[in-house]
Amino acid sequence: MPERILKTDDEWKKLLTREQYRVLREKGTELPDSGEYYRFRKDGVFLCAACGNELFSSETKFESGSGWPSFWAVVGRDSVTTAPDHSLERERTEVLCARCGGHLGHLFADGPDPTGMRYCVNSVSLEFREEE
Ligand code: FE
Repeated sequence: MPERILKTDDEWKKLLTREQYRVLREKGTELPDSGEYYRFRKDGVFLCAACGNELFSSETKFESGSGWPSFWAVVGRDSVTTAPDHSLERERTEVLCARCGGHLGHLFADGPDPTGMRYCVNSVSLEFREEE
């Protein structure tokens, strides 16, 4: 298990922007096609914007047409956890940062090969680290 990061709401509010707090801590969703990483094509690693945990590689990023950055795999075993999300009539699977518990997005089983999975993630929950 990765080292866990636990902070109070007040601590997170000081660290995150308003929009980051709304998405990461209050399970909000950014508007589709609005995020800085949706049409983003650089090579590197996407980290959790709240805690820096390594989440996704650009090698697994694909154009889903959804309006949100989409990946067919996580970068490591300790990247994310999932939980059932009953907030809509149609049950979804929530994706959370395994280290800080921040809300990242949702997981769907309609992704491309080789996994068939689609991690649909808010840009605002991500930070990018370029790699050559
Ligand atoms: Fe995190």
